[in-house]
Amino acid sequence: MFRGVIFNRDKLVSDGLEPARRCLEVGSGPPSAVLVYDPRFLDHIASPFHVERPDRLRSIVSHLERADLFTDVERAPPATPAELARVHNATYLEYFRNLGEGRLDPETAVHPGTFDLAALAAGAVLHGTRAAVRDGRPSVALVRPPGHHAGPDYGGGFCYLNNVAIAAADQVAEGRRVAILDYDAHHGNGTRDMFAGSASVLYLSTHEYGIYPGTGPAEDVGEGEGRGFTVNVPFAAGCGDASYLAAHDRVVEPIVEQFRPDVVLMSLGIDAHYRDPLTSLVLSSPGYVELVARSAALATRLCGNRLAVALEGGYHLDALGEVIAGVVGHFRGRSTRLALSEVLDDTGRGKSAIEATIRAHRPFWNLR
Ligand SMILES: [Zn+2]
Repeated sequence: MFRGVIFNRDKLVSDGLEPARRCLEVGSGPPSAVLVYDPRFLDHIASPFHVERPDRLRSIVSHLERADLFTDVERAPPATPAELARVHNATYLEYFRNLGEGRLDPETAVHPGTFDLAALAAGAVLHGTRAAVRDGRPSVALVRPPGHHAGPDYGGGFCYLNNVAIAAADQVAEGRRVAILDYDAHHGNGTRDMFAGSASVLYLSTHEYGIYPGTGPAEDVGEGEGRGFTVNVPFAAGCGDASYLAAHDRVVEPIVEQFRPDVVLMSLGIDAHYRDPLTSLVLSSPGYVELVARSAALATRLCGNRLAVALEGGYHLDALGEVIAGVVGHFRGRSTRLALSEVLDDTGRGKSAIEATIRAHRPFWNLR
């Protein structure tokens, strides 16, 4: 079944925005989202036959090109040592930079060029975030390696440097409040560990609970003055469209609204898709695009379109390509063909996980 998706116009009008802010309408000038990409991201090969492989980005670029959406593409310099050091400790950075050949975990191999490529990915997300903040329009950083499993003093889970956390810390250094929405199927333990004690960064993750990395229960609400600013929705296998959209409407939207961020960052992994080989979540392609669209509407309403999306995981090549093309198309007011559109969760199997999150966060936020 084909479901074309254009949300911008209705969403913006229903949000009651003044006409000047309605810059996403179809046909209104230049593309309203910048892409950040670098062909050198294809050079990262952890090991032969690794699931986190260059074909992931090739598929995305190919889907974007076919939809005439691979335009307004920018490159960025690598993140600097000072930018990396805002979230990673010096010992870890020195170890990783000088490792040569080695492994951070069995799935996360290091070669002589790995550090530079990881810093290039971090630089791309930094650039996309700064562009979104400066221009008041979304950015999408198409990067690899991904980042959200990399913590202050560790890497793992295909991640070396935490791209989104580095960009978030850069914004905090500018005095801004940052909301990170992590829609990858896995819990972003690295991002969580970096900001668990911070009240300037709201970290909100939906994930399949019980798979790698094993963290992210509803009851983990952060630490110290950061209590309440770590939000986990720990879905079970089989949760998909209805569960994610309910989590967005009942948890993400009210908490982000009350937090009032200056910028929204999104760790977007496409491994919660029903075709993904690594997890048992069942989001459809239109479900993904709708989820991102609702978050984008939130960023439009709360912080003037300052939304920076960064690619994390996602291992089914067609699912990955068509969802990212659908997301970029959405930002540019264009519908794209989404073939993988079966709705496998239309009842909201994740209700108990959402209720657990709401129970854990009632002390901190006004939640129904
Ligand atoms: Zn993942």
